[in-house]
Amino acid sequence: MSQVVNDMLDGFICQTCDSFVDGEAPGYPRDCEDCESDERKSWAQQAKIRANKTANTYNAFILKNSFLWKGNVPIDIAESLEVVH
Ligand SMILES: [Zn+2]
Repeated sequence: MSQVVNDMLDGFICQTCDSFVDGEAPGYPRDCEDCESDERKSWAQQAKIRANKTANTYNAFILKNSFLWKGNVPIDIAESLEVVH
């Protein structure tokens, strides 16, 4: 294996962008801070999309069916879920 591949597998350089991480070689592949925060941002973005999809589905369901249970809803059931921006 090449030195670059070894450095990457050891976590000495970032597995995503090949840049130097922090001088440590923990012995497993890892990302530098920049790539890690990009990855976390994309996880957060995906989580937000899923949460909003659920909220929109819930809100549409409640709106469509509200005449069925108007005035007869347990107080711990939300009338609508917040959409995150
Ligand atoms: Zn990186």
